[in-house]
Amino acid sequence: MVKEEVHIDEQLIPILEQVSDPEIPVLSILEMGVIRSAVVLNNIVNIKITPTYSGCPAMDIIGEDIEKALKDAGYQSEVKLILSPAWTSDWITSKGRKALEDYGIAAPLNETADKEVLLGNKKLVKCTNCGSQNTIVVSQFGSTACKALFKCEDCLEPFDYFKCLK
Ligand SMILES: [Zn+2]
Repeated sequence: MVKEEVHIDEQLIPILEQVSDPEIPVLSILEMGVIRSAVVLNNIVNIKITPTYSGCPAMDIIGEDIEKALKDAGYQSEVKLILSPAWTSDWITSKGRKALEDYGIAAPLNETADKEVLLGNKKLVKCTNCGSQNTIVVSQFGSTACKALFKCEDCLEPFDYFKCLK
């Protein structure tokens, strides 16, 4: 699926960078690719977000967190939810993927590779501890539904893999 052009007014970026994803606190909502657009008009910020999971209660919190961060910076805001096209893990930025890895969560592979590793056919997920690809899936579901639990057969450390979501 082709991602729509994301439009964010430059002065809003440092503010939005401070709002973290409720699911993965080390990632900002910008890095998660949740924001579709954010435009200032007459000191009111019109902002459109696409939840990572529709029906996820965390999304109410994101909306409130965004409003609060903007209010602290002197803006009023109107947050609108855009449900289509749906969020996919492809929208996570490269900076976001790096932050995930640093946090100890393997970043999502592409859709095809993702299926292979979850079925246990291929070893493509890198251990977040030692970097080895000698890793096996332990459970399709890790600490949350969006993650799978992997284990490294070299250093024996278990770690989460963020599944590819479409
Ligand atoms: Zn390892």
